[in-house]
Amino acid sequence: MDYLIIAEAYKKIEATTKRLEMTEYLVDLLKKTPPNVISKVIYLTQGKLYPDFVGIEMGIAEKLAIRALMWASGSNESSIQSELLKSGDIGKTAETFLTKRKQVTFFTKPLTVERVYETLDKLAKTSGSGAVDTKLSLISGLLTDATSIEAKWLIRTVTGNLRLGIADMTVLDALAIAYGGGKETREKIERAYNISSDLGRVAAVVAQQGIEGIEKFQVHVGEPIRPMLAERLGVPEEILGKYYGSCLAEYKYDGERVQAHKKNDHVLLFSRRLENISKQYPDVVELIRTQIDAQEAILEAECVAIDLESGDMRPFQELMHRRRKYGIETAITKYPISLFSFDVLYVDGADLTQQPFPKRRQILEKIIKPNIRLKPASQQLIKTSQQLEDFFEKAIEEGCEGLMCKSVNPDSVYQAGNRGWLWIKYKRDYKSEMTDTVDLVVVGAFHGRGKRVGAYGALLLATYNPEKDQFETVTKCGTGFTDKDLCQLYEMLQKHIVPRKNSRVQSTLEADVWFEPAVVLEILGAEVTLSPIHMTALDIVRRGSGMAIRFPRFTGKYRNDKSPQDATTAKEIVAMYRGQLRKIGETLP
Ligand code: AMP
Repeated sequence: MDYLIIAEAYKKIEATTKRLEMTEYLVDLLKKTPPNVISKVIYLTQGKLYPDFVGIEMGIAEKLAIRALMWASGSNESSIQSELLKSGDIGKTAETFLTKRKQVTFFTKPLTVERVYETLDKLAKTSGSGAVDTKLSLISGLLTDATSIEAKWLIRTVTGNLRLGIADMTVLDALAIAYGGGKETREKIERAYNISSDLGRVAAVVAQQGIEGIEKFQVHVGEPIRPMLAERLGVPEEILGKYYGSCLAEYKYDGERVQAHKKNDHVLLFSRRLENISKQYPDVVELIRTQIDAQEAILEAECVAIDLESGDMRPFQELMHRRRKYGIETAITKYPISLFSFDVLYVDGADLTQQPFPKRRQILEKIIKPNIRLKPASQQLIKTSQQLEDFFEKAIEEGCEGLMCKSVNPDSVYQAGNRGWLWIKYKRDYKSEMTDTVDLVVVGAFHGRGKRVGAYGALLLATYNPEKDQFETVTKCGTGFTDKDLCQLYEMLQKHIVPRKNSRVQSTLEADVWFEPAVVLEILGAEVTLSPIHMTALDIVRRGSGMAIRFPRFTGKYRNDKSPQDATTAKEIVAMYRGQLRKIGETLP
């Protein structure tokens, strides 16, 4: 296929701002395209060589493009530069200079789409020493044989300046019209795209096999499925209303969405934006490789930062330390993660995307060999608003953002690439950020795992309530302690051990060891939240709820200067929650 056909279609597409016209020109182009090159034409039309998830880009610097232009046109750098400055468009500059090129070569070979594609592919894959020269000669070679209009589009393509604005959805419309038999087939073609993220493959199938081919289109391990997205509601009754009275609610973990593809021992990970993030998470790759009992599988999980010793979830921000290219091994140990899997889309030859959610979950539970690093998402069947509220608070207590409520109806398929009511997120204003530290009393402790055997793994901490003269638990803290702190605290607390919970201590949690309230520590938390477990300010903000501090960390400061009665009070915690610290006493209950 002549590249000139593409260049002329681009020219028309560039000249219009109307989507309908743009679609028509694209349809014309696709009809002129032989089916065996259609995927290449589609990629090129979007300024690419492969679908995005492959991660191969051309990205040629403007400087190099100018050198190629000098070579092909016989002009000097300064005149090209000044023209570029005037037009601000490297494509137009190329067109101008190749129109007035000094030497006309007599033995030019017309450019074909195949040759352009292969050359650009080589260009994208060239690296290492001598790469610049190789790239220069590849581009110059194309330009020498290009007409001026072809040169314009070639240069724009290699420098990443195609800017035709052809959206995925326009390509789908055009494919439906050109090969599907009409616009009404668009939905089927779109589904094929949603489960493959590869417009080139979709185009090749519809062009070669028609709509029947698209109907048989299958999920492929290695091709990311476009993620299903959720709607949002803030009232439990409304959520249950959408689901005819019952749904499955899951913890909404606060981490990074990962789509894992497993083929025997080979594992690929894709981000929510479908980038390949396998290199960033070798620990996740290993978990999927060893803990998934299937030859082939595609599943989705939330990857969450955790504290390995206490098992607690850590705030989302900690995951940001894992976004790096170098020092990954160190980051793995410093910022460990856990995976909570919430869906499975394919297992050993079976595409599960059209199966109802309860069935998918059943299969998910079957193929996961759970361990402390990989589990299915916590889930509960919900039939009443109260159950939803209770489960929500439990989720918050454990460090989650809220709940994902999911339809259990027969039509609860995996809606790849779509936002809909089959999933509803439930996050409510239940927390405020903490800006100040608090001083809390140690009332209990939990034994440690691993490194911390013999010391305490986490401490149960309480606020003071002067009205009732009691200590009310507010958080469990296992983070921020150095080895020296752990020894020192262990010793310090020995003399305060009591055989059972002190009568002034209010706690629903069963600690391994109880202490008389004596030791006060300074703690920095991330948020104050409502809590079904902790006893601070019980019933004050909401009936049946206490308050908790989330993501607590010991600052290193022992408040030996404070008696337990000088600890932060329940009232202060409520004030922090309401963001009214300065008005304490004025408006609080
Ligand atoms: P949002 O980003 O607020 O629209 O919420 C959707 C995101 O929540 C998804 O993309 C997932 O990354 C994340 N998530 C956490 N837990 C779950 C779960 N149990 N089910 C589905 N998505 C979840």
